[in-house]
Amino acid sequence: MRLGGIELGGTKMVCAISNENGEVLDRYTIPTTTPEETLPKLLDYFKDKNIDSLGIGSFGPVDLNKNSDTYGYITTTPKPGWANTDVVGYFKQLNVPIGFDTDVNVACLGEVTYGAGKDIDSVIYGTIGTGIGFGVYLDGRLVHGLMHTETGHMLLSKHEKDKDFVGPCPFHDNCFESLASGPSIEKRYGTKAENLYDRDDVWQLEAYYIGQALCNCVMCYSPKKIILGGGVMHNEKLFEFVRKETLKDINGYIKKDEILNHIDEYIVSPKLGDNAGILGACELGRLELAK
Ligand code: ADP
Ligand code: ZN
Repeated sequence: MRLGGIELGGTKMVCAISNENGEVLDRYTIPTTTPEETLPKLLDYFKDKNIDSLGIGSFGPVDLNKNSDTYGYITTTPKPGWANTDVVGYFKQLNVPIGFDTDVNVACLGEVTYGAGKDIDSVIYGTIGTGIGFGVYLDGRLVHGLMHTETGHMLLSKHEKDKDFVGPCPFHDNCFESLASGPSIEKRYGTKAENLYDRDDVWQLEAYYIGQALCNCVMCYSPKKIILGGGVMHNEKLFEFVRKETLKDINGYIKKDEILNHIDEYIVSPKLGDNAGILGACELGRLELAK
């Protein structure tokens, strides 16, 4: 099979063709400008590629309700030019089944299908980078609901040393993204997170917030594994701190061997690296074809 996939990102768009074994056969990347300029290039790429299906993972918010008039749209994004863009409608010209979901949900699906979450029916995949988003896969399917989860905007308790900090989220003073995203670190310390590698106090505070968020995820979703990716998690020291903080916040309440004795296998890095999103998008299209 030739499975088409698109990752619509805030800075770049990636298209690829994969087979059903998770091998990327071809790939094409362009910078994200306006929909008028970007979408036709993506469509042209697929026109002669003979794909069987297409899956799209998009930055959001997006409308995932198939009964809605704006299903398949990017809805209220502040990204200039992209609000109310009919993404799925545009690609209908290709005449193949189309799957559509958020960027983090498709990355989650990629890791579940081929990566660190393979053969596990309940997994959370989080990306901590410019933004924070978590894909939620429970009982063998991606979770949607009213819209889609917005785990990056869960509210957290501020550390007492951080109580005067004003984070970058325009909606919430103390949401996860405002307190722990890459731009949040940069705002707090005046330099990019990658320049702060040796500052353990920075990563302790970062883990203080990520630990709370993961504790909340464990309580709300009961995942069997948590996979954490994104630029900020490139600092490998952070994993140890995050595991400790998560255990501290759970505080013995969940008495499962996986958490109490195997936390290093419970909170893990992704296995697919940069391919998680695109392979998940291809798989999403395959699932749509299989329906
Ligand atoms: P995006 O979220 O835009 O797709 P990334 O996932 O690469 O991009 O995240 C970018 C963020 O990650 C930036 O804020 C950057 O400062 C931060 N970052 C990149 N490398 C590292 C690193 N080694 N350690 C900590 N933070 C990093
Ligand atoms: Zn917020």
